[in-house]
Amino acid sequence: MELKLYHFMPDKLNLYGDIGNVIALKKRCEWRGIDLKVENITSTDGIKLSDCDMFFIGGGSDREQCIATEQFSKIKNEFKSAIEDGIPALTICGGYQFLGEYYKTVDGDKLPGLNILDFYTESIKDAPRLIGNILVESDRFGNIVGFENHGGRTYHNYETLGNVIVGYGNNDEDKKEGILYNNLIGTYLHGPILPKNPNVTDYLIKAALDNKYGNYDFIELNNEIELNANSHMVELLKKNIK
Ligand code: GLN
Repeated sequence: MELKLYHFMPDKLNLYGDIGNVIALKKRCEWRGIDLKVENITSTDGIKLSDCDMFFIGGGSDREQCIATEQFSKIKNEFKSAIEDGIPALTICGGYQFLGEYYKTVDGDKLPGLNILDFYTESIKDAPRLIGNILVESDRFGNIVGFENHGGRTYHNYETLGNVIVGYGNNDEDKKEGILYNNLIGTYLHGPILPKNPNVTDYLIKAALDNKYGNYDFIELNNEIELNANSHMVELLKKNIK
């Protein structure tokens, strides 16, 4: 079996080890005998999302986000229909913020988002950045661990990845993290998120295989090492809860 992943703007959007997500996807496919072909997309000219089985967008500084916004806006409608059709996708931090209506930077500049989903993100002048390790309890994925560093606060009423036990998540108010819309995952978790959260990685791979092949056997892997790393971090983070 073969899958194709579009990795958008790897030269601009790659903070705090986000590339590790692509490596984790590739490895977990390889261990199942699936060839995951990764295509780096640095310009959206002539790009058709129907040619790939999943896509990934990492996080970026406000400057890079501004440049990437221009590129993404050219294929805004393509993004919208691919997401509505259930393409699996992982979008991190700045990559997640793009999907909403706008991102207001700390200087008050409003970067228009792709407006695919009904949410917005705002940085607040003089408010602290939301930085640190994070633990999210998720009904669907179990304990999700990672690292966050963002000024933007995102507000929405969609399904989230889960409840924030340690850290901030979408904002510093509602204790919710990320978004799950069809097979699209948006999250503030860097770290990168996928290596220590194999349930999230497999969710994306499985969704891509379901879309492409329909009827096949999904091979379960031995996740002992990954889940040990996950529980080790959960333990450390819980110790710090006052
Ligand atoms: N520039 C955005 C913010 O600070 C995104 C940062 C990131 O991708 N880590 O909110």
